[in-house]
Amino acid sequence: MKYSVLADAYERMEHTSKRLELTEILSDLFKITPLGLLARVVYLTQGKLYPDFYGIEIGIADKFAMKAILETSLLSSKEIQEEYRRSGDLGTAAFRALNMKAQYPLISKELTVDGVYETLDTMARSSGVGAGAFKLRRMTSLLSYAEPNEAKYLIRTITGKLRLGIADYTLLDALSAAYLGDTAFRKRLEVAYNLSSDLGLVARVVAEHGLKGLRKFRAKVGTPIRPMLAERLASATEALDKIGERVAAEYKLDGERLQIHIQPGGLRIFSRRLENVTNHFPDVVRVCRHGLRSKKAIVEGEAVAIDRETGKLLPFQELMHRRRKYGVTEAVEQYPTCVFLFDMLYLEGRNLMALPYLQRRKTLQAEVRENQQRLKLVDQIVSDSPGEIEDFLDRAISAGSEGLVIKDLRGSYRAGAREFLWIKLKKEYRDELSDTLDLVVVGAIHGKGRRAGWYGSFLLAVYDHEKDTFESITKVGTGFSDDQLSSLYESLEGIRIARKHPRVRSRMQVDVWFEPKVVLEVVGSEITLSPIHTSNLNSIRKGMGFAIRFPKFVGKQRHDKRPEDATTTFQISELYLSQLKRIKS
Ligand code: ATP
Repeated sequence: MKYSVLADAYERMEHTSKRLELTEILSDLFKITPLGLLARVVYLTQGKLYPDFYGIEIGIADKFAMKAILETSLLSSKEIQEEYRRSGDLGTAAFRALNMKAQYPLISKELTVDGVYETLDTMARSSGVGAGAFKLRRMTSLLSYAEPNEAKYLIRTITGKLRLGIADYTLLDALSAAYLGDTAFRKRLEVAYNLSSDLGLVARVVAEHGLKGLRKFRAKVGTPIRPMLAERLASATEALDKIGERVAAEYKLDGERLQIHIQPGGLRIFSRRLENVTNHFPDVVRVCRHGLRSKKAIVEGEAVAIDRETGKLLPFQELMHRRRKYGVTEAVEQYPTCVFLFDMLYLEGRNLMALPYLQRRKTLQAEVRENQQRLKLVDQIVSDSPGEIEDFLDRAISAGSEGLVIKDLRGSYRAGAREFLWIKLKKEYRDELSDTLDLVVVGAIHGKGRRAGWYGSFLLAVYDHEKDTFESITKVGTGFSDDQLSSLYESLEGIRIARKHPRVRSRMQVDVWFEPKVVLEVVGSEITLSPIHTSNLNSIRKGMGFAIRFPKFVGKQRHDKRPEDATTTFQISELYLSQLKRIKS
């Protein structure tokens, strides 16, 4: 398969913002892709070489890619830089530069998808002395064979900026349409994806074996499972009413969620975003190796930073010290953690996910040797009394937790789903607006005065799961320290785009648009109707969306959340309704 086929499809995708058209283009692309190449085409289309949990990334710096373009083009460095500056996109600069090639290979050949993939893969895997020069040679060689349009997408892929705006759901729709004849089967594909976290694999299986193949997906030790998530409600009474039975109420700890896979070959730890974070938690590896009786299991828990001297729980931010390439050993010593386990998904060849929670918790209890400092089961009561649960909530808060997670004792483990089998309850829900919201930065306005040189305020959006879009909901400019503004400015620099992203909906104008990637935690006083924002547009009143009143940044950038994990339009409408109920009562 020629790489130009891929580049042409990308070109068409880039020129549409309609999800249906995107799905159609993708599904047509899949139909003409040979089976053996399908997984690679899926990964490349996501701008990757492998699923995230493999931890192999292309990630070449712009400066470096620019060198390769310079070597292949007749344009001068200044001219290429000028192109780059004008378009804000190195891919477009490469397109222009490759119209004026400096050299043509002796024997010209067309780039193939396989050839490109293999080259990118060897580049991603090379490290150490001489790796830089090696990568540059391989990049230059690829570009010397590339047509300008191919160069555009090659460079974007290499620098991690493919930005086709395709979310997992759209890919699943397209696969469903291509191999099962209709997007209606997306949910079936989603189940396989939730268990494997690997869209390339799901694609290959559905293409080869159809629905029958999808049914064979099972949880596997060593492969992350997409985490089950919680809905939210305002009070214990509401939670009990919703579940209608005795429930488990557990501390909701403010740490980092870990999915721990124990196997004889070595232990692996995955984050909420399914990255392999084993190297960041050597202490957790040690403690789990000794603390679990079984040699093959998958458990989940929350790692919380603790004070070295007093053992007191520390806030979530302290764990961020571990999120670095170097100095992890020091961070582990300075900021030790305790892991509070709350679920068990797999044990010695048995998949436990379909079992009721009560049984999973009992199995977990029997398997864990608690270590008072470093490994515990999360605190839990089983109750059907609102009063008792509210008291437990108070206790949880004074012990440093965020609140409670109320769990349906009959509930199975629903990978990747946010449903009322788990309900979070926080102290703030009783007051004003309630919980914090995790919103995606989609645009910004330049700062003035003291904030000149940074952004003064940010346009934030919620995720619409059905439309797969990011809908604007508020503009926030308060709650930021100078340090936070400056570091946000830097992290947003790499995802600046020339115009509104195709998956972003907003009626508001801003100075700068971004790819929807960065997630910020925000509080507000209430949700109001608004003619300016597009979140839940027309759902309550024609022409009106929802907005957040008095929004304020709470100081947390949610590195552990992908934009699709942000607060959804569905959650916003639930919050709005419970706010109305509260006012009426
Ligand atoms: P938040 O933004 O409120 O921290 P979230 O959006 O990250 O929540 P939710 O699904 O809303 O995720 O809440 C579940 C999260 O709460 C889990 O991902 C986990 O990290 C954390 N957690 C803490 N304690 C527990 C517990 N006992 N059971 C389940 N999850 C827990």
